[in-house]
Amino acid sequence: MIFSQSCLLCGQMHKNALALCQSCQQDLPWLNTHCTRCARKLNFAQMLCGTCLQQPPMQQRTLAVFEYRFPITPLIQQLKQHQPILLGRLLGHLLAQSAHQQYAQDVLPQALIPIPLHPQRLRARGHNPAALISFFAQQALRAQQALRAQQVLRAQQALETPVLLHTCRRIKNTPSQRGLNSQQRYHNLRQAFEWCPDQLPNRYRHIAIVDDVVTTGATTQSLARLLQPHVDRIDIWCVAHTQQHAIT
Ligand SMILES: [Zn+2]
Ligand SMILES: [Zn+2]
Repeated sequence: MIFSQSCLLCGQMHKNALALCQSCQQDLPWLNTHCTRCARKLNFAQMLCGTCLQQPPMQQRTLAVFEYRFPITPLIQQLKQHQPILLGRLLGHLLAQSAHQQYAQDVLPQALIPIPLHPQRLRARGHNPAALISFFAQQALRAQQALRAQQVLRAQQALETPVLLHTCRRIKNTPSQRGLNSQQRYHNLRQAFEWCPDQLPNRYRHIAIVDDVVTTGATTQSLARLLQPHVDRIDIWCVAHTQQHAIT
């Protein structure tokens, strides 16, 4: 049974399972036609943008749910500061819903790897937003897959998409990336992560790197570079993607 709750954005009472009323959810800046590989917005429904056709990036697919603009911006802010669980649940579930649609003709990753925070930053904040989103997305994926298995569509498919928290460590407490251009961000992130070989079981050959927001892509690319030699396929999952600075 679902009780009434007030919508996070407009304050109206509703009975949705998630924290937004139906019309606010519809009005979110959904990223519609976009390149499946880098999430760059496209004007026409086509699979890949010109850049990805000429110079394919490390990731095979980018799952991005929204454009990073109002009202996603304050929602992400709340995830980081005041209401991590409520927002983690909302955004994680929306990410899983989107995965369900966008991977209809594709194979889901076998494990999720949230972008790690430096231990000092983690202590100060008390939680890792990317990890929270991953756990709630995992929960929603599990529910979807259980439903599918019941319908005997893909009963043979594993029901778990584990969240791997210790595959990589952040060893450099990088200053905030805000206000830096993409070159400065790459420089900032050089050797920011360390790979922990015993933490990625060999059976996970297809993984997704999860972050709340992808802006220039410097962070996800830096981690992808580290993981690439150890897996067959990398996807990137994010709640929001900044379009004007998108790189591949
Ligand atoms: Zn609303
Ligand atoms: Zn592209």
